[in-house]
Amino acid sequence: MSRTEHSFLPRAALGRLLEALCALGYRCAGPQVRDGAIVYAELASVQDLPRGLTDVQAPGSYRLEEGGGERYFAWATGPQALKPFLFAPREVLWRADRGADGRISFRSETAPAARLAVIGVRACDLAALALQDRHFLEGRYVDPYYAARRVGLLLVAVNCSHPAATCFCASTGDGPHARSGYDIALTELDDGYLTHAGSDRGAAILATLALAPASAARVEAGQAQAQHSAAVQSRALPGRNLRDALFAALEHPRWEEVAGRCLSCANCTQVCPTCFCHAELELPDVGGHTTEHQREWDSCFTAGHAWLAGHAVRPDTRTRYRQWLTHKLGSWHEQYGRSGCVGCGRCIAWCPVGIDITEEAQALCTP
Ligand code: SF4
Ligand code: SF4
Repeated sequence: MSRTEHSFLPRAALGRLLEALCALGYRCAGPQVRDGAIVYAELASVQDLPRGLTDVQAPGSYRLEEGGGERYFAWATGPQALKPFLFAPREVLWRADRGADGRISFRSETAPAARLAVIGVRACDLAALALQDRHFLEGRYVDPYYAARRVGLLLVAVNCSHPAATCFCASTGDGPHARSGYDIALTELDDGYLTHAGSDRGAAILATLALAPASAARVEAGQAQAQHSAAVQSRALPGRNLRDALFAALEHPRWEEVAGRCLSCANCTQVCPTCFCHAELELPDVGGHTTEHQREWDSCFTAGHAWLAGHAVRPDTRTRYRQWLTHKLGSWHEQYGRSGCVGCGRCIAWCPVGIDITEEAQALCTP
């Protein structure tokens, strides 16, 4: 089976793919229900997948309900993307110890590379991963913590068949169909999966399953499903490069208006798969003999993140919201050659007051 062809994996045989990954030494993670939401967690068997569930999302709202038939992937996005697997929410970067002679020694805490296969990755999350790769791996500084996890990551994408009302990946050009960045892509149909290899190792894994080629009718059904998933998306950003429009609108009254609703809670940045702001903390022991240097996720919405030389450079919610949007949709183009938004819609659903980035961008682009 070449990398350009589709084969067909019957639903009852999905477990064989997990077994093949385990046999190659991969720990598997996949979508599962935790606390009423679909998140990625260690996957022991196909039975752990969220069969028949779909997500209903709206500004400030997320809930799961029946409606996916026999499907395992009839949902759009949970609150978590690939980000926590590579850029840990909190981790120790190094430790320092003071010896009996008073000398201080440092120990790096770089995690050993481990094989991890994530199953069920969405197209928007692959696009977000490519952006995080640019940030953590492709600049002047390569982050060894991210790099150690990235090298062992294998990605099984599943093309979206049930976009949520908050999704707008078609408008950013990042979905709903995965185009690159995966090892294996699955398109879920009612009776199984079209499979497609996106890398040599993905092709080698599929070859071990000895699957039959997909029929023309199934390939057509997959294409129709992809078109439908794009066509039903009702939200959109007003353009793919909003840099000039947003920087021309720095004094727009909408910033004040949205600041009146925004709680500066940082939920949007925590669920965003491309946000990478972090803080670094020093945690010495009581005796002063050792100290732990930690990195943890931070947000441009927190007061501390804008604290510079004894001065709050973004003292209020208006300036913090403006920082987030002008960076995410504007100056990312200068840094990374594209917008920092992949249209996943998470910041809309998980904002406690339902602030909608597409609505705000539209308002700010209107004089
Ligand atoms: S800004 Fe919002 S919609 Fe865009 S990638 Fe981040 S969470 Fe997703
Ligand atoms: S936009 Fe919403 S999620 Fe983001 S900081 Fe404001 S209230 Fe919180």
